[in-house]
Amino acid sequence: MSPNLNHSDNLFLSVSEVQQRIISDIKAVDGIEQVDLRHALGRILAADVIATFDTPPCDNSGMDGYAFHSKEIKGDETLTLKVVGQSFAGHIYNGEIKPGEAIRIMTGAQVPAGVDTVVMQEHTKKPDDETILITTIPKPFANVRKAGDDLITGQTFLAAGKQLSPTDLAFLATQGIAEVSVKRKLRVAFFSTGDELRSIGETLAEGDIYDSNRYSIYGLLKNMDVDIIDMGVIKDDRQAIEDAFNTAASVADAVITSGGVSVGEADFVKETLEKLGRINFWKISMKPGKPLAFGTLGNSLFFGLPGNPVSVIATFYQFVQPALKRMKGQNIVLPMVIKAKTTEFLKKRPGRTDFQRGILEQAENGELTVRNAGTQASHVLTAMSNANCFIVLPAEGGSVEIGEMVDVQPFEGLTG
Ligand code: AMP
Ligand code: MG
Repeated sequence: MSPNLNHSDNLFLSVSEVQQRIISDIKAVDGIEQVDLRHALGRILAADVIATFDTPPCDNSGMDGYAFHSKEIKGDETLTLKVVGQSFAGHIYNGEIKPGEAIRIMTGAQVPAGVDTVVMQEHTKKPDDETILITTIPKPFANVRKAGDDLITGQTFLAAGKQLSPTDLAFLATQGIAEVSVKRKLRVAFFSTGDELRSIGETLAEGDIYDSNRYSIYGLLKNMDVDIIDMGVIKDDRQAIEDAFNTAASVADAVITSGGVSVGEADFVKETLEKLGRINFWKISMKPGKPLAFGTLGNSLFFGLPGNPVSVIATFYQFVQPALKRMKGQNIVLPMVIKAKTTEFLKKRPGRTDFQRGILEQAENGELTVRNAGTQASHVLTAMSNANCFIVLPAEGGSVEIGEMVDVQPFEGLTG
């Protein structure tokens, strides 16, 4: 028996226990690469990014209006000032501004020395071309955006492990950063096992079905922005399985299979895995799902998912997606859980955690509600396709009545 092998054949593990066991073992891949800003979208930062100058770089106006010095202000008394020049965004005012004077200023334009307060245009009148009358007096320093309001020199503003969003690209651009260091992409290989499986384009003989898991797994991986190695359908044949495992492990950071891990499957699938890797065969107290093989195959992580199409998606979502996120270098990896009120009776037997396919909606009063997305069976894709969330019903609980609050995982990476 390989070291670390932890058969729990008769023991059911909880979903969170399995999540913790999987995630706690995983380290982020080492490789990093430099990419330009546009290619950094969605990638995981490999190093902290530090501001090299203050942004905004100078005090600038938050309004279109007139800039003047706060010492002109005498309570609420209206003010008449002489307009001596203008500061437009990208066109600074270099002249002097003396007592009793103001300049015209536009949003984003530098607030020059000698003034510190901006009055919005709407609070002024213009008796003639050279004079303004301030009718509503602003507070001293009003409408001036200070240098360094957003970032100050030396500040870490994006931390390693952050997945770069459109906002982050803008954030980096404010610092003039053209390239960033990101974690390299993961390589993930997957294949389906089963003598009954045919690929699209082949003819179905009696008892055959098309291999659909390969497509859900493809889509889930694609949405995780990993490099994908699709190895097709592998027959329930000792040598073919062994070869496939070896090939996959030699090229990929993670290998995912579907089918062949449930009780009653040809024993050599387990046998082969035990021979080639350090794999745990777990029974998880969840529905759909239950059997899951997890461990290492050579240098890659291995996930043996159950065969039923909904089980594949549910177990991928609970275990593979968090694991791959962690491998990518992400900090937050577990699915987000929110509360919603069920508008339907949700049938459940106590025993296992249910991941029911649900439709999460917002009622007119703003309240989040959830309802059943259709027949809850692990071979039925209809409800999975209609769903936009999993309704998570705790293992020990039974059915849920209309109006009760339930845990919901809004889909991420499963909606298009
Ligand atoms: P298994 O875990 O291999 O016993 O498979 C459980 C169920 O899932 C069986 O009904 C299989 O036919 C079905 N199944 C397994 N793999 C796939 C696949 N790749 N695509 C569609 N159905 C599958
Ligand atoms: Mg099978």
